[in-house]
Order: sequence, then structure tokens, then C-alpha cells
Amino acid sequence: MTQPATSPAPKLETLGLSRERPLVIVDVDEVLGLFMKAFGAFLAERGFDFRIDRFALFQNIYPAGASEHLDIEAGRRLFDDFFATRCAEIEPAPGAVAGLQRLSRGAEILILSNAPPQAEQLRGQWLRRHGLPHPLILSSGPKGPITAGLVAQTPQRTAFVDDLLPNLDSVAEHAPATATFQHVADERLRPLAPSAPERHPRIDDWAELAAAIEAAVHGR
Ligand SMILES: [Mg+2]
Repeated sequence: MTQPATSPAPKLETLGLSRERPLVIVDVDEVLGLFMKAFGAFLAERGFDFRIDRFALFQNIYPAGASEHLDIEAGRRLFDDFFATRCAEIEPAPGAVAGLQRLSRGAEILILSNAPPQAEQLRGQWLRRHGLPHPLILSSGPKGPITAGLVAQTPQRTAFVDDLLPNLDSVAEHAPATATFQHVADERLRPLAPSAPERHPRIDDWAELAAAIEAAVHGR
């Protein structure tokens, strides 16, 4: 089955984004914010251990002290509940706010987050409260098709940042002119996260990441 090259994407002008400057598309969880840390605290309050011993999400949730992980559907309900009620409590990733503010002086910023729809209000509030008043799109599935639909609307250079290799590969496939960068914010996840630095530079320091994105979109 072939996927469409683009999927319906909002118009840049309805998002308040200009075609006069480069476009930088940035993920939230484990790029701008320490999701695993906040979700782990949320789970602990409910009597669950969140064991970061492999790069997974629902398979890492255990009833406290148990050797079998929680079933996936129960994990998904906890995940949805976290996004509906608590996702505004995530701590910004170190250097993320300063890095994005620096980028926003020379580029348009769009936040593209694979979070459930019920997160929209809290996630938007979180961004504004941390000085990142950029448009937010909540999406699901691989990010290549929607990114292709967005970057096709601008003649400027574009860049994309995510922690997940499948999203980076999806963007490289569907929007090959977009520069891709991997950032993994949580120090515990860094050694576990699959990477392909020959395709997507892996830069876990936000100051270095912002400099590399500037070089990519401004050609310097
Ligand atoms: Mg993420």
C-alpha cells in the first residue's frame, strides 16, 4: 500500500505563519519537554512503576513491584488521562526554551505533536507559559505526510526536529528537502533511542541543535 505524498495540512496563513522566512517544525515530548519524567511521576502516584530499560512506552508500565507489564490498553488509558489532565506540568527540556526563542528570531516555528486531541488546551497553555507562543498542531501517526503538506506551501528552507527515528525517516521520505534533526531530551532514554546519524544528525544539546538548525535553514 502506498501512502499519499502529502496529507491534508492546515494552511500556513491560518496558522499565522509567514512564507517569507524559513519554517522549523518541532516536536514536544522529549524535544521541548521532559515527557517521560512527568508521565513517570503521574504513574507513580497511581501505584505504577515506569521502568526505562528499553525504548518503549506502554510496555514499560508495571504495577508496582510486578514482573509483568500492564496490559497495553490499560497503559493507553493512563496515557490519555495524563494528556487530558496533567500534560501542562511537563518540565521544559534543558536549553529548549532558549534554543527555540533563538530560532524564532530568524524563522517561523510550528509545533507538531503526536498527542491525543484532549491535550490541545493544556499543551497550548504550556507552550505559552514557557514563552513559546507558536502555533500547535496535534497529529497522529508518522509525521512525513503532514510535514510534506506543510513545507510544500513555502519556498523557504525547512527543518524538522523529533526524538523518534520513525518520524524522522517518514519526513525524509515524504519531504526530502527538509533538514531533519534528532534530539532526545531525557538522559535515561539517550542510550536506548534508535538513531541514524548519517541520515538525521543526532544533537542532544539544545544550544548545539539551535546552531545546527540555523546553519541548515540560513545556509551559514
Ligand atoms: Mg516526541
